[in-house]
Amino acid sequence: MVLVNTAGTTVKDATLEQLRGAIRGEVIEPNDPTYDERKLIWNGYFQKSPGAVVRVDGASDVIKVVKFARENEIELAIKGGGHCFAGSGTTEGGLLLDTSNLRGIHVDPHRRRMVVQPGLLQGDVDAETQSFGLAVTGSQESYIGIGGVALGGGLGWLARYRGLLVDNLISADVVLADGSLVRASPEDDADLFWAIRGGGGNYGIVTRFEFKLYPQGECAAGILGFPIDQTVQVTSRIDEFNKTAPNALTTSFAFLVAPNGEHAVGMGFMHAAPDDSTEGLIEEMRGLGSRLVLDHCGVMPYVAVQRLLDENTVAGHRYYPRSFLLPELHPEAMQILADGFVNTPSQRSLVGGAQMGGAMLDVSPEATPFPHRDGYLTSILPSWTDPAKDEESVEWTERVYTELLPYTVEGVYANHLGTDADERVREAYGKNYKRLAELKQVYDPDNFFHRNVNIKPGS
Ligand SMILES: Cc1cc2nc3c(=O)[nH]c(=O)nc-3n(C[C@H](O)[C@H](O)[C@H](O)COP(=O)(O)OP(=O)(O)OC[C@H]3O[C@@H](n4cnc5c(N)ncnc54)[C@H](O)[C@@H]3O)c2cc1C
Repeated sequence: MVLVNTAGTTVKDATLEQLRGAIRGEVIEPNDPTYDERKLIWNGYFQKSPGAVVRVDGASDVIKVVKFARENEIELAIKGGGHCFAGSGTTEGGLLLDTSNLRGIHVDPHRRRMVVQPGLLQGDVDAETQSFGLAVTGSQESYIGIGGVALGGGLGWLARYRGLLVDNLISADVVLADGSLVRASPEDDADLFWAIRGGGGNYGIVTRFEFKLYPQGECAAGILGFPIDQTVQVTSRIDEFNKTAPNALTTSFAFLVAPNGEHAVGMGFMHAAPDDSTEGLIEEMRGLGSRLVLDHCGVMPYVAVQRLLDENTVAGHRYYPRSFLLPELHPEAMQILADGFVNTPSQRSLVGGAQMGGAMLDVSPEATPFPHRDGYLTSILPSWTDPAKDEESVEWTERVYTELLPYTVEGVYANHLGTDADERVREAYGKNYKRLAELKQVYDPDNFFHRNVNIKPGS
C-alpha cells in the first residue's frame, strides 16, 4: 500500500519527506521493518494498510501532521491503544497518527489530580496512580488506550462509585482540524469541553488530559461461575441483588467456560471499599446458584482487579461486536444469550454485560454527551481467526442480537459500536446528538476527523 490522497492519487515521496523532515517523531512506511507491527489494531477483522504510520513525539508533531494531511488531502486516522471496537482507528492508504510515544503522566497526590498523555494504556495509568494510593476509573482491562476510553466514556469497575472517566475530566488540550491547539475546560472552551466528554475523536486530537483522582485501597473482587443450566435463576438473583447493592459494589454477568470445561454463567464483581459486611455480600453471591464451578475471589490490589479480564481477548483475532442496553436481566433474554453462547461457531465468544447506575446517575444525561447511564451495557463479541469463518460468525451475532431486540431499550455506548456505528450513532447519544452535530459544524465543518464513530457536521 502506498500513501494516497482522498482522490486516490499517490502522494509523492518528496511530499512525505517534507513531513519526515518537519517532525521529531517517526514516519513509518510499508517498507519499514516495524510497519507491520505499528499498523496493527486489536480487531483483525478490520485490519487495514495505512500509506504511512506517523509516530508523533509531541503536540507540535500532532499539529504538523494535521496540517500536512489537510494540505495534501490525505485521510487521517488516530491510534492510541488500538482497541476501538469498530476498527475506525486505522485507514486504507491514508495516514495513521500513532500516539503511543506520548506516554507522560504526572500525578499530584496533594490535589488528587493527574495529567496524562494519550498514548498511555489503562494499566500504565493504574500503576502510576496506585503508587500514590489513588485511582480513577477507565476501562476494565489494562491494555486499553486511555485516549479512546477518555473521549468515549470510560466505564470501568469504579464508575458506579466515582462516575465515568468523562465525568472526572478537568481539562484537555486539543489540536483542532485547522491545526490550532486549544485548551478545553469549563473556563476555557466550555462547548468543546462538553463535546469531548463522550463525543470521541470527532472534535480534534487530544494531546493532554487532566483528571480528578480518588483514594483507592485494596478491593474485594472476583469471578464466580455456576452451571449454565442455572442461568435464569442466577441472573434473576443477580438482578435482584443489584437493586440494593451499594455504589461501591459493581457487578457484571458473562457466559464462560469453567476450568473443568463446563459451560457456565458467571458473575464478576468488585467492591471498592471492603468493610466488615463485604464477606457477607460475597457469601450471598456465592449462593446465587446451587453449585459453583468457578470461585476466584479475594481481597486484592486495584491493579490486580484491572487485570482480571485481560485474558478474555487476544489482540489480532477477528471480532464482530454487537452491543445494546438491557434494562433488566429478563429471564428470556438471559436464556437467548446462554443458548447463543453454547452454540457459537467461533473459537470463543464474549457474551455478557456490565452493571451501570450508582454514581453515574449523579451526572445528568445532558451534562456530558454520554446519556445512557443505567441498566446493563451488554455485548456479544465472537472471536475467531480464520477469515473463512467471517460469514458464519457475523450471521450468528446478528441472529442472537435480533432475538434479543425485544428485551433491549434504546441506547448504546458509542465506544461499543461496531459496523453498526453509522446506523446507531444517534442512538448512542440520544437527545445530545443534535448539540454534538452543531458543535461538529463549529469545530470540524469538513468532517476532517471522520475515522471514528462519526458525528456528521450540522446534521
Ligand atoms: C477488549 C475490550 C474491552 C473494553 N473494555 C472497556 C471497558 O471496560 N470500559 C470502557 O469504557 N470501554 C471499554 N472498551 C471500549 C473502549 O473504550 C474503546 O474501544 C476505546 O476506543 C479504545 O481506546 P484505544 O485508545 O485503545 O483505541 P484506538 O483504536 O486507538 O482509538 C479509538 C478511537 O478513539 C479516538 N482517539 C484515540 N485517541 C485519541 C486522541 N488522543 N485524540 C482524539 N481521538 C482519539 C480515535 O477516533 C480512535 O479511532 C473495550 C474495548 C475492547 C476492545
